[in-house]
Amino acid sequence: MSNYNSAAIEEFNGGIWVFCEQRQGKMMPTSFELISEGRKLADELGSKLYGLLLGSNVEGIAKELGGYGADGVYVCDSPLLENYTTDGYTKVICDVIREYKPEAMLIGATNIGRDLGPRCAARLHTGLCADCTHLDIDVPKYKDFLRSASTLAPAMIDSIKEDDRNLKMTRPAFGGHLMATIICPRFRPAMATVRPGVMKKAAFDQAKADACQIIKPNFSLTEADLDTQVVEVVKAAKKMVDLIGADVVVSVGRGISKDVEGGIKLAEELAEVLGGVVGGSRATIDSGWLSADHQVGQTGKTVHPKIYVALGISGAIQHKAGMQDSECIIAVNKNESAPIFEIADYGICGDLFKVTPLLIEAIKTAKA
Ligand code: FAD
Repeated sequence: MSNYNSAAIEEFNGGIWVFCEQRQGKMMPTSFELISEGRKLADELGSKLYGLLLGSNVEGIAKELGGYGADGVYVCDSPLLENYTTDGYTKVICDVIREYKPEAMLIGATNIGRDLGPRCAARLHTGLCADCTHLDIDVPKYKDFLRSASTLAPAMIDSIKEDDRNLKMTRPAFGGHLMATIICPRFRPAMATVRPGVMKKAAFDQAKADACQIIKPNFSLTEADLDTQVVEVVKAAKKMVDLIGADVVVSVGRGISKDVEGGIKLAEELAEVLGGVVGGSRATIDSGWLSADHQVGQTGKTVHPKIYVALGISGAIQHKAGMQDSECIIAVNKNESAPIFEIADYGICGDLFKVTPLLIEAIKTAKA
């Protein structure tokens, strides 16, 4: 196979790369999250971190990635890359990866990332772990042993060259009942798609942004390479709820079933007084009470707001997976043994239809 990835693993020493997704020249938030996470991984490996940015006239937004930790950004600019196409993006990415040989490649598990990642991995003949929620570097045990049992200076231990530089990619498995950690020891780059909102964005540093190197790799892309053509981009008229960026999320569960409209209205009122947005458990999405963009959890969105309010949500493991890192969790449930209380900072055992109006009034009074 001409596109078989025949280079030896050791040749893949071109650093950690992050595919930085932009749409209409605006960087997607997941790009900053992954650059921030990639920085930590690159530091642990003693490697460089690079963003990979594709688009048309996008060089102007590249340096911002440096502010979150990128040493440099490979910018592939072409009018043919203005709109995302699977075949165009795949060709360019695979060509530059073959040329510069990164050891790992992170991609946001957005609609585009979920389409692009597996296609590139298959073409490069490497492994991809989809929908990761945690990333780490496999540090051989002897290094941990040296840290705990020897008098060697930490810097000296850190400088020891590792043979084993596997990216440990963790994701929920078996319906979220266990977390599987996966490595890709025989092929490079190790590829991972990462759920948006899981990794935390670092603080922006203007000096680092200014120092970020812009690299323009040679690549070839002609219309003959594209089997698809974007005729028109039609934006959905519907405004999607921004759960990931919200400081406060008030979520409802099946507990609102006796008065769905009333329950959602209460959640909206509580969200309004707290300056937040409404989310929901999968039960509320599956029942058609809320649209899919409201879903929090393993197959929905991962949120870590300052305040998460769970109204009538039992706290199934798949729901917790999407909200347990919230700074403060407030749960209202009429069943005192509901699992949500195990992770709640404040638990109120009672009927949400009685408790929520009291909460709304109390907050309004406190604000007055
Ligand atoms: P229930 O479990 O039915 O809980 C309702 C709760 O409301 C109960 O605890 C009850 O005591 C309480 N209640 C009832 N009436 C009142 C009242 N008047 N006042 C106060 N409390 C009341 N779920 C998600 O949420 N997100 C996901 O992303 C997700 N992904 C999944 C992926 C897989 C592969 C699978 C198998 C499942 C997934 N689920 C997900 C489903 C999950 O397992 C649960 O079924 C779901 O979270 C339950 O939603 P719930 O808590 O609203 O409903």
